Amino acid sequence: MRPILSFLFVLLLTAPAFAAKPNVVVIIADDLGYNDVGFQGSKEIPTPNLDKLAAQSLRCTNGYVSHPFCSPTRAGIMTGRYQHRFGHENNPAWLPESTGAGLTLEETTFPSLMQKAGYTTGAVGKWHLGAHPQFHPNKRGFDEYFGALGGGHQYFPGDKGGVEYTIPLNRNGKDVPQTKYLTEQFGDEATAFVGRHAGGAKPWMLYLAFNAPHTPLQAPKEWLEKFQHIENNSRRTYAAMVCALDAAVGGLMAKLDETKQRENTLIYFVSDNGGPNLTGKSGTNFTDNAPLRGAKGMVYEGGMRVPFLVSWPAKLKPGTYDQPVIALDFLPTALAAAESAELTPKNLDGVNLLPFLSGEKSGVPHELLFWRTGGPGGNNAVRRGSMKLVRNGKTEPELYDLAADVGESKNLAAEKPEVVKELVAAIAEWEKGTIAPTFESPKAGKPAAKTKKK
Ligand code: CA
Repeated sequence: MRPILSFLFVLLLTAPAFAAKPNVVVIIADDLGYNDVGFQGSKEIPTPNLDKLAAQSLRCTNGYVSHPFCSPTRAGIMTGRYQHRFGHENNPAWLPESTGAGLTLEETTFPSLMQKAGYTTGAVGKWHLGAHPQFHPNKRGFDEYFGALGGGHQYFPGDKGGVEYTIPLNRNGKDVPQTKYLTEQFGDEATAFVGRHAGGAKPWMLYLAFNAPHTPLQAPKEWLEKFQHIENNSRRTYAAMVCALDAAVGGLMAKLDETKQRENTLIYFVSDNGGPNLTGKSGTNFTDNAPLRGAKGMVYEGGMRVPFLVSWPAKLKPGTYDQPVIALDFLPTALAAAESAELTPKNLDGVNLLPFLSGEKSGVPHELLFWRTGGPGGNNAVRRGSMKLVRNGKTEPELYDLAADVGESKNLAAEKPEVVKELVAAIAEWEKGTIAPTFESPKAGKPAAKTKKK
């Protein structure tokens, strides 16, 4: 063959292979209330961009994260495993000298597997998986990183606050200045990432973890002005923060459209936990988890049932999906979408959701789902079908039928002792595969001592 013809022939052979692997985006909101986005039913907080994404998604109405607070949920997403299996049940303190407080190096990460599957990987935003350099995103599978390495951050450049919330932003290991409202800067970075890698030889994965709308409650004037009608100052600011997040997602989506990547991009959206029960100065809670019971930190539904979207226009028809799913499923689902299921570790708790979401399989992805805070003997919960057992420490187990009672208001434990017995046994069995937390959450106001419990 002439050189030009053979070149075209090679292109023909290779182009479809590139096109087949979707890009992957994981978007995480922080402390977002269950009912605080339009697609979940909020009338108070308009989120047109997230609503548009929801219209292109399977909205998972029984979608969970694996923990009712920040860092452990992220450890679950990063590994596809219950984080209790490796002792990551608390938030790591901001301790750059500690090799113990972070996502253990013994675990294989989602982005490192995507690298093996041929992906360029990037992370933007909140990390919260360890402050020691060994835990840096660039060491855990991300080719590119821009963000705040701690558990949260001040939103405006130059704002005062605790150490963790005022550390310089970080780009690939180097300090960089914060130049604008943080949600906006994270959005810009994410948008730049998908623009930079559009049309490249490799598919890409982007992990976009906003710290919004987690406290501190800080929002730009232009967004606050849209919510003059909300009297409660904390609620007004929180609403403005959610809208800023929505706009940042809108910018990312527009770039995906503009670069013609949207169709073959798999996007997940979740909050890392339910809305917190924080009252601010007004004495009224400013997040809305309706119709769920409880809030961040609890193993009632308000702690870890979250807004949950999966979108892949090229392969998945939008709609709703009602069987219980969990963010642990992101990793194996992405590997399957990348036609690299053979890379999926054997020890995962997450499953490939694609056959369920496409309707090819009609069963349940998970017979059982588990949650636990505070280590063995702490608060825990298990869900089987529509039945959920909640045990707060040493109190008597409570039993709810979520199909009839999503608000967990009618305790059925006395009526169904057999179910209670089975579910208590299921938790005990699951706990055999877990260990005690290997580090403590920081005490309010000061970082925890270097810890290694047991
Ligand atoms: Ca959180």
